[in-house]
Amino acid sequence: MPENLSEHIIDTTPVIEATAAVPAAESDDDGVDIRFTDLNLDGRILAALTDLGYEKPSPIQAATIPALLEGRDVVGLAQTGTGKTAAFAVPALSKMAELADVNGGPSKNTQVLVLAPTRELALQVADAFTSYAKHMEGFTVLPVYGGAPYGPQLNGLRRGAQVVVGTPGRVIDHISKGSLDLSNLEYVVLDEADEMLRMGFAEDVEQILSSTPAEKQVALFSATMPPAIRRIAKKYLNDPAEISVKGKTTTGTNTRQRYLQVMGPHKLDAMTRILEVEDYDGIIAFVRTKAATEDLADKLRSRGFSAAAINGDIPQQQRERTVEALRDGKIDILVATDVAARGLDVDRISLVVNYDIPNDTESYVHRIGRTGRAGRSGDAILFITPREKYLLRSIEKATRQPVEQMQLPSTEKINELRLSKFADRITQTLAGKEVGLFRDLIATYERDHDVPANEIAAALAVMAQGGQPILVQDIPVAPAGQRERADGRKDAFGSRGPTRTLTEGNATYRIAVGRRQRVMPGSIVGAIANEGGLSSAQIGGIDIRADHSLVELPADLSTDQLRALSKTRIGGELIHLELDKGRKPAGSRSAGEFKKPFKKDFPKRDGDTRFAGDANRKARHVKGAGAGAGRSSATSDQW
Ligand code: ADP
Ligand code: MG
Repeated sequence: MPENLSEHIIDTTPVIEATAAVPAAESDDDGVDIRFTDLNLDGRILAALTDLGYEKPSPIQAATIPALLEGRDVVGLAQTGTGKTAAFAVPALSKMAELADVNGGPSKNTQVLVLAPTRELALQVADAFTSYAKHMEGFTVLPVYGGAPYGPQLNGLRRGAQVVVGTPGRVIDHISKGSLDLSNLEYVVLDEADEMLRMGFAEDVEQILSSTPAEKQVALFSATMPPAIRRIAKKYLNDPAEISVKGKTTTGTNTRQRYLQVMGPHKLDAMTRILEVEDYDGIIAFVRTKAATEDLADKLRSRGFSAAAINGDIPQQQRERTVEALRDGKIDILVATDVAARGLDVDRISLVVNYDIPNDTESYVHRIGRTGRAGRSGDAILFITPREKYLLRSIEKATRQPVEQMQLPSTEKINELRLSKFADRITQTLAGKEVGLFRDLIATYERDHDVPANEIAAALAVMAQGGQPILVQDIPVAPAGQRERADGRKDAFGSRGPTRTLTEGNATYRIAVGRRQRVMPGSIVGAIANEGGLSSAQIGGIDIRADHSLVELPADLSTDQLRALSKTRIGGELIHLELDKGRKPAGSRSAGEFKKPFKKDFPKRDGDTRFAGDANRKARHVKGAGAGAGRSSATSDQW
């Protein structure tokens, strides 16, 4: 596992108020020199960590594990991918294991409750507990989350779950049903507290906290510390040790990672635009199939780039020649499959384009390792379709580095650039020797045909373009068929016209929260994805009105989903989800149209190929979780 964890810098600056210093875990840039064996952990847990290949605790772990073992409440602040799960799970399990020895066997009671913002995170945390508890006898953990049937969860709870990991809404349900007994609870964890808050779970979290026994340990983990979290920490945590880990959390810090949301059919245009504006030396573009390597290389060549393909079907010798050509600058773009590019080491590669998303994070890490070589800095761009978006989080975890959203270079920018390049070419050519001969030719033409010189120049410019248009057209940004207006004009999320098309099979639902309740699209998507068990792709347009909102969802929601959603809260308010009366579900093509002012404030959604700004980026974990939620057994580095 990542030796680079040692690059973390610990900053023990108190977050809430001054508290006793955090034990040990002082570090400098050279890293934390603490081993798991220094932490007084139960041998069974240590064995599991060894099995997992964890060599030493990450800084947040080194700091929080001793405090938690000691019985203190803890506030842990650290970025994604810093190992927060083990930071709270490992000490909890170690205590449980030791307690079981003292009591002559494990207790079946629910002793640990972890609250997580999304179904996917709840599953991940539950998986982590399972792997750390691998050598513990009779260990049980149960994830509970909205959108899933109650039956299995009720059975699991009845059988006894020592650790329950749940999303707040569903946990409240189980508490009120009497199916979750918290009277023996010893330890509550709020994981990703800021995200829970952002998704509107603050009140639920408080309600849960106040229905737990007074005598308990509480740990709160978060990437950021907004005031509302601070308030919760102050109210529900008892003299917490506050641990904040800052600094580098990455492997190849010299490679910047970005992603561009783009629909499959527009990838080629997106790539050419990027190549026009990015500074690059050598490029490697990864595609999924052998055929795609040839196809993309052909298309790039026909657009004027020097590109070549390598894949497993191409004989070794020829592959080597191609790589040499890249090294020598005879070609600039190598289009490759993962297999063909294994181990490729060309210093010149300054940009990796993940044209197709790789199959797993390991391949991703390998791909981006083709750049940033020999101490140079590198760039990695990932093309991601709306459906693939939830995978970003796994990538960020695997690389321990954020993947920033990038915008597609705008049509205006590209065209401006092209025109100025064209002008440059004219200037350069005028300075050359060949102009002389043509000057006479043009003069003759001008006289014989009585055409002004600028007209002739324009005709020559067209010739010089060789049939290629000099200006690019707008790339349609909306998913095909989904955001098309009835009149055929592109409708960027209904912002231009009074009507919009409801996707076939969808219906408009009404929820009882709107601007007055200060709801944000992100919290609506989060709550609905989570509690209704819907994927991001299933949630269509959202129109936030004064005191209610309209949301496009599948027309055929199950009774379970409807029940869950009718009880869902956003910002503490019940949303009372119901079909919007008077609107026909889009059962057929003709019924799909409906008049309705999805107007200016119709929010941009991540799910669409709108190259949206930061506000949307915020919402993506939420949505991502929705889309990825079905994968119960996915490990953190595979999908
Ligand atoms: P966070 O909750 O801070 O985002 P996670 O707890 O999900 O991070 O951990 C991120 C990844 O790091 C996981 O794949 C996890 O298995 C791995 N990891 C955690 N602790 C260690 C460690 N001490 N050594 C190596 N890998 C670790
Ligand atoms: Mg986490």
